[in-house]
This record gives sequence, structure tokens and C-alpha cells, in this order.
Amino acid sequence: MLTAPVGAQLVHIDQFHGGPIVEETHANPNFVIDAGQGIDVDVRGHRFMDEIYTYTQKSMATATKTPENMAYHIIDAHWPKAESAAKKFLAMNTKVLVAQTPEELAKRMGVDPKVILSLFKEYNDALAANKLKELNPPCSLKEPQPLNKAPYYAFPFQGGITATFGGPKINANAQVINNEGRVIPGLYAVGNAAGGLFYGNYIGGTQLGGATVFGRIAARKMASLHKNN
Ligand SMILES: Cc1cc2nc3c(=O)[nH]c(=O)nc-3n(C[C@H](O)[C@H](O)[C@H](O)COP(=O)(O)OP(=O)(O)OC[C@H]3O[C@@H](n4cnc5c(N)ncnc54)[C@H](O)[C@@H]3O)c2cc1C
Repeated sequence: MLTAPVGAQLVHIDQFHGGPIVEETHANPNFVIDAGQGIDVDVRGHRFMDEIYTYTQKSMATATKTPENMAYHIIDAHWPKAESAAKKFLAMNTKVLVAQTPEELAKRMGVDPKVILSLFKEYNDALAANKLKELNPPCSLKEPQPLNKAPYYAFPFQGGITATFGGPKINANAQVINNEGRVIPGLYAVGNAAGGLFYGNYIGGTQLGGATVFGRIAARKMASLHKNN
């Protein structure tokens, strides 16, 4: 953005890649929200995304679809790793809500117990009738389990940004391109400060790879210019 006044061509400014995080402690909750069981709800106790989403999709949906950027992954003792996951959260000084009944869990979440009871009923009924995909939003989990086995857990998480895709467009020499498609002499951008390398999504490792490769290219280019002066 700082390069806009010099006429840099800004691209993909609305694009980013996300990962789930617990803001307070920076704990990584991937292992819980990728469990393949349970439901994801906002702070009002409403589902807002398909639970089949990957952790990346879940974090981006949480960031863009909940006003507070805050969600809970609700799961119960059907998940064999529930207890150890709760212990892992606590070991990261991160809060996890545990309760023996859905009503108690709702109270701990600060949600009206009627909302959670009706949500559990809707989910369990749809599962029993093999109609989870007809829910709004649909739940397309491959091996869903009912929510009826205490204890019940609510793991909090938020959508975090791992990398921005937007910024001043660069060429293969990491040089910033202006609005007329020409190089702006002496101006380079790499890593999260550069735009145009990624769009929509990215292959694991390529953000770090791109930052390193283009960082080296830019440094070599600048060093060679300095040498020639
Ligand atoms: C949780 C998480 C997981 C990720 N996982 C992956 C992954 O698996 N694979 C992958 O490819 N990418 C991953 N990324 C993305 C990747 O880390 C970034 O895209 C990459 O680090 C960007 O490199 P960068 O050099 O542009 O910025 P950064 O690595 O953020 O470096 C910028 C540096 O500048 C310093 N700085 C800032 N302001 C100033 C200032 N005014 N003066 C001096 N120094 C300053 C900062 O302290 C920092 O050290 C992940 C990111 C996060 C947050």
C-alpha cells in the first residue's frame, strides 16, 4: 500500500491465506478442528460453515463470516482424542470449555442453552435420517458422529492470516511494476510485501520459498547496481 503514491500497480489486495489460531495464546488448534467430527459454531451457537472444510477454509470462513472472528469447535466423547486434545490445549495455557451436559456447555459458552439443545437435536436428527447434507449450511463430513456422549467440549479458535497475497505487482526480478506495466527503477518488493505471485490459494511452503527466492534475487540485483555505481 505504501507504494501506491509512486504509482505501483496494486493487485489481489483482498486476498489472503488463513490458518486457525487462538488469539490470546497463539495456540494452533488445527488438530482439533480437523478432527473429522463435531460441529463448528459462532459465538451465538449457530453453525456457519460445512464441517468438511479444511483448517484453512475454516479459518478463512471464521474470519470472513463471523463478525467477532471467533468460533468454537464442539465435539464430544465419541472422538477418542477429545480428552487428550483438551489436555494439550490446557498445556498451551489455552482455555477449553468442558461440560457434562449440552446445557452446561452452552452456559460456559455464554449461549442460551435452548439454542444449543435445538442445534444438537437438529444435527442428531439429520444424522439419523442421513440428511446432514440438507442442513443449512450442509455438513458433508465423511464419518460424522452423533453429539450425545458426555463430556462435551467447545474448543475456541479464530481465523488468522498466515500470508497476504496482495501488494505491488513484481516481475521475475522482484522489481515493482507501475500502473502502466513498466518497472519502477530501484523499487523491489518480496514476500508478504509483494503482490501477484499468488491468487486464491497456495501450495504449502511456497510462501516461505517465494519470500526467500525473490528476496535473494532482489538483494543480488541491488548489490550489483551498487557495485556498478
Ligand atoms: C502461523 C503461520 C504459519 C505459516 N505456515 C507457512 C507454511 O507452512 N509454509 C509457507 O510457505 N508459509 C507459511 N507461512 C507464511 C510465511 O511465514 C510468510 O509468507 C513469510 O514468512 C513472509 O516472509 P516475509 O519476509 O515477507 O515476512 P516476515 O517473515 O514477516 O518478515 C518480516 C520481518 O520484518 C520485521 N519488521 C517488520 N517491521 C519492521 C521495521 N519497521 N523495521 C525492521 N524490521 C521490521 C519483522 O519483525 C519480521 O522479522 C505461515 C505464516 C504463519 C503466520
